[in-house]
This record gives sequence, structure tokens and C-alpha cells, in this order.
Amino acid sequence: MNTYREPAREIPVTHAVDVVVAGGGTAGTAAAVCAARLGLSVVMVEQTAIPGGMLTHVTHWLSDFANKGGFAREFITHLRDSGICQWPYHNLFRTALYLDELVDASGVRHLYLARVAAPMRDGDGRVCGVIVESKSGRHAVRAKVVIDATGDGDVAALAGASFVVGRESDGACQAISLSHLLTNYTGPAISNPDFLALLDRAAASAGNHYRIPYDRARIQTLAGTRQCIWNGTPHVCGHDPLDAASLSDAMVALRRQCREFHDTLKFHTEEFADLEFGPIAGLPGVRESRRMLCDEAVSYPDAVAGRRRPGGLFLVTQAIDIHKCHEGEPDIYVEKIKPYHIPYGALLPRGVENLLVVGRCIGGDHQTLASYRIIADCFAMGEAAAIAARAAIDENRTPRQIPAEQVAAKMAELGYEQ
Ligand SMILES: Cc1cc2nc3c(=O)[nH]c(=O)nc-3n(C[C@H](O)[C@H](O)[C@H](O)COP(=O)(O)OP(=O)(O)OC[C@H]3O[C@@H](n4cnc5c(N)ncnc54)[C@H](O)[C@@H]3O)c2cc1C
Repeated sequence: MNTYREPAREIPVTHAVDVVVAGGGTAGTAAAVCAARLGLSVVMVEQTAIPGGMLTHVTHWLSDFANKGGFAREFITHLRDSGICQWPYHNLFRTALYLDELVDASGVRHLYLARVAAPMRDGDGRVCGVIVESKSGRHAVRAKVVIDATGDGDVAALAGASFVVGRESDGACQAISLSHLLTNYTGPAISNPDFLALLDRAAASAGNHYRIPYDRARIQTLAGTRQCIWNGTPHVCGHDPLDAASLSDAMVALRRQCREFHDTLKFHTEEFADLEFGPIAGLPGVRESRRMLCDEAVSYPDAVAGRRRPGGLFLVTQAIDIHKCHEGEPDIYVEKIKPYHIPYGALLPRGVENLLVVGRCIGGDHQTLASYRIIADCFAMGEAAAIAARAAIDENRTPRQIPAEQVAAKMAELGYEQ
């Protein structure tokens, strides 16, 4: 490959804190807020302008909260009590505002529109912070413990930890999606089967052969609204979520699907004639990319057998829900599981010290990822990482030296079923 040697340079250390959380998405926001509430100084670095990641850009359906305590329970209780969630759907825009409140109240120093570019290493090779690229230039955030909540395991990978990508057989990742809103729906309430039949007729009348790229499509209004329709149907396969150009192409293809969906409905049905095109999410819905090789991993046999382990942090109860990796495969594959443990070791990338991974990049396999990647479980991972960070700092140890049972006991105290 053609290369360029980047000149070495001194950069300012703009923050020195107990914990830096890379990625202020689903698991990252939980990790940052929980760590700050435990009395730690925290910086959360997020590349977008909004906390929540998939939770506030893509996902409007919530589940697997029933057996969760702590942050997850507080979150869902607030969403239900305030009407942000009309179970099981939530209003992503209002959820983002609520996350702002939680982050601010906890004292987390957030850095939005800032991207983690690399880990910092100390003289012993341990991770000791992150290098950030932002409008302030290139700067460093030094920290005693680093939590990688980038979804893709960016920090762990850049720190040299090993990982696998996608399906074991061919490395293919599940379809990437996009969410967007259609506004100004003034037609009657319509059932899902009627909606799908109407869409088929509209496509035939348009002669555009439009077909929803995902056969479990639902017509669903945004929680709390009557006139806004949430569209989560765009799906593309064959794009590499870790390749900038491929991901960029995916976004354009997904936006085209949004337009086709809108145009087919608006211009070829009476019911949707008043429809207007609303906002499109600025983040692609990436279901799968890196899974870090960690001290422990969650596997398909664990999920179907409902494996419990000593020191298990919490239980996942969500079914496996795999979206197609290639066109021509079934759009979705669903399989029930028995409640199984997420072990603490699945948060500890092998060969790297002072770093925890949380969210969909933890140690696991392709099939089981499609179960534990769910919002409530990502929150629980974030909270567990915060507890481990507090213990590591108090005891002057690395997170790896903290016994799993110690973290699990705190999770149980917070009401996480084990
Ligand atoms: C299309 C789709 C539909 C889904 N539907 C559901 C559903 O209905 N119900 C459900 O419970 N779950 C659903 N999920 C799963 C769930 O939403 C995600 O798996 C989960 O939110 C992932 O959380 P995370 O913290 O790992 O990643 P994310 O929420 O993606 O957070 C990662 C964050 O890190 C930021 N980031 C990435 N790299 C960097 C960097 N280098 N520097 C700084 N910031 C960075 C990103 O901007 C993002 O905010 C869905 C997922 C997808 C993709």
C-alpha cells in the first residue's frame, strides 16, 4: 500500500480524569453516567452531536428491560412515566434530551463532535487515555481507566487487541439499516397487513417494482405522535462497516431507499398523499462489525443452553434475531434462547491492560451477538464497566485484576437479575 509517514508531534493533554469513555452511544452513555455517579471524574468522547448512538439515531423499539436494575431500570421507568416511551416504542428525539439531562446532572464532561483517533499507552504499554480529533485540533485525554464504547471496538483494535468481524463462515456482517421519519400523515389508522397490501398496489401502479427491502416491515407512528411515521425498512447488504468508502456508499444507497419508500407512498396512494419527507438519521444502523477476542466469550451454545457462570454480571433474555448478510438469504432469522449470563471476562480484551469494552463489540459470536446487542443489555454492560473502573481505581489495580464476583455482587445489589 502507498504510505505516508506522519510526522511525530507534541499534542496538549486537555483533560486528565479517572475514566474516559470512547463513544457516547448506548453503552457509553450508561458507562459515563454511572461512573460519574460513583464519584469518578469522567470525559465522554462522542463523534456525533447527540448522546445515545443507535438508541437515539436508529432504534425505536425497546425490550429486555424486565430483569434489569440500576441505570436500565431508571431509564425505562422515566421513559414510561414521562410518556417518552409508549411501550415498546420510544420517541428517540425526546430520549436524546433525557440523556442530555442525565449526562449533565452526573457531571460527565462530554465532548461531542470529537472523534477518538488512537489510544494513549504508558511506558508499560498499558492504555492510559485516548487521542482525540476535534475542532480543538488533536489533543489527549489522559485517564486511569479507558472504556471503549465505540460499538466497533475502535480503541481496542488500535491498541492491538485481536478481533473477528462478522459471520464465522465468511466474515459477512448483517445488513446495515437506516431510520427516517415521514411526517404529515393525515390518513386513517391502518393495520400492518393493510399497509403492506397498499404498498404493493402502490408499487404496481408506479411500475417501479418497489419492494420493502426487509419483509418484517411495520407501519408504526413515532411514539407520542399521530402524524409521524417511523421508517426502519432500509437495509443494504455487502457493505463493509469498517471501510470508510464502503460505509459512505451504504449511506447513499440507504437514503435512496428512504426516498423510494416515500415516493411510492406519496405519489401512488390517496392515503399518504400529504406525506412529507422528514429527518434521516445521521448514523448508519450497523448491527455488526468487530467482536473483540476477550478473556471470555459468549457463544451460541451458551445462549441455547441458558449458561450461567460464577460471577455472571446479568442475564440476557432476548431471542437471537439475525438479519440477512447477503441478498437472497432470509431477511431475518429468529431463535429463542434461555436466559444466559454475560461474564465479566467478555468485557476484557485480551492482551491489553486498563481497557474495558462494552456494547456490541464484547467477546461473543455472530449468532449470540444478535441477542446480547440489545439496548437494555448494552446499558447493563456500561454500568458493569463503571463499577469495575471504580473498584480498579480504589484498589490501584487494573480492571482485569478485579474479581468478576465483586462486580457481579454490585450488579445484583442494583437489581440486575443473575
Ligand atoms: C438497525 C438496527 C436496529 C436495531 N433494533 C433494535 C431494537 O429494536 N431494540 C433494541 O433493543 N436494540 C436494537 N438494535 C440493537 C441496539 O440498538 C445496538 O446494538 C446497541 O444500541 C449498540 O450499542 P453500542 O453502545 O454498542 O453502540 P452505539 O449505540 O452505536 O454507540 C457507539 C457510539 O460510539 C460513537 N463512536 C464510534 N466510533 C467513535 C470514535 N472513534 N470516536 C468517538 N465516538 C465514536 C458512535 O457515534 C456511537 O454514538 C438495533 C440495532 C440496529 C443497528
